[in-house]
Amino acid sequence: MLIDTYGRVATDLRVSLTDRCNLRCTYCMPEEGLQWLAKPDLLTDDEIVRLIGIAVTELGVTEVRFTGGEPLLRPGLVGIVERCADLGPRPRMSLTTNGIGLQRTAQALHDAGLDRVNVSLDTLRPEVFQAITRRKRHDDVLRGLDAARTAGLTPVKVNAVLMPGLNDDEAPELLAWALESGYELRFIEQMPLDPQHGWKRDGMITAGDILASLRTRFTLTPEEEDERGSAPAERWLVDGGPARVGVIASVTRPFCRACDRTRLTADGQVRTCLFAREESDLRGALRSGAPDEEIARLWRLAMWGKKAGSGLDDPSFLQPDRPMSAIGG
Ligand code: SAM
Ligand code: SF4
Repeated sequence: MLIDTYGRVATDLRVSLTDRCNLRCTYCMPEEGLQWLAKPDLLTDDEIVRLIGIAVTELGVTEVRFTGGEPLLRPGLVGIVERCADLGPRPRMSLTTNGIGLQRTAQALHDAGLDRVNVSLDTLRPEVFQAITRRKRHDDVLRGLDAARTAGLTPVKVNAVLMPGLNDDEAPELLAWALESGYELRFIEQMPLDPQHGWKRDGMITAGDILASLRTRFTLTPEEEDERGSAPAERWLVDGGPARVGVIASVTRPFCRACDRTRLTADGQVRTCLFAREESDLRGALRSGAPDEEIARLWRLAMWGKKAGSGLDDPSFLQPDRPMSAIGG
């Protein structure tokens, strides 16, 4: 098991497949000038499958989430999913994506064994989408979402980040649209992982703001606490249910005590937390011929050092050096 000194057990693995992206969301990437990971530093498809295999068969991981950067930009994605679906025990697999290109690959991903997708979409307004992502691809995302639902990658979840002055008035509209389309909407509080290091707690849209805004149009009833488990999203039944909306309040209502995550970057570093400032190298061990047991030992050791919390409330908090796109959200 991947257990830490606080007794938490990591069963949910986030794997970043690339640090590259076809959008430039302001809260995640700079407009230009970001240094990409060098190709030889990236894990190969075989290395990724081997590490996921070790996590699943030796370390008790049951959930695998592919992310990035934009994971659909990884040419070998369908093959990676297919090979992971053959692992025993078979992990549940999902993908966090901006949805661009999903129209072409949703069916193949489903057929390869992917269970679900989370598609990130912050706005229903094309011009606001362009202001947030610095690209004109709003239609592609909507088509990708539609294709995911048709392919059976369900429940399709939609992740939305609200930014002051851009889309902070859109929460009820987004929820009405998600309910009508059969998507499960989750709002994510903006976290200090932007490359400009411009995040300010005072200016952010909080879970409280989001709920207040939703309540102008919907009745929200909190879901039973035990249904949340270690899931980061707190969920509310909308107008009595069964539809739900979630809020991931990483900043104002952190869920570190129940965290069950371990993370692998595209260049083979284990991170114990989004906000960790330390990483543990598995790529070096892989490439120097270490056997599975040794890699499992290194992974366990890394998780043993997991801190109690994100440290966001600590006056000495320092943002990680990598922006979100290079950590894997
Ligand atoms: N490119 C894919 C996507 O956008 O879904 C996967 C990677 S992205 C880093 C994963 C998620 O992190 C997205 O839902 C995105 O909105 C979210 N995200 C990125 N930067 C963030 C930040 N600073 N605070 C909160 N969420 C953030
Ligand atoms: Fe790309 Fe996702 Fe980051 Fe937006 S949030 S820049 S889509 S990695």
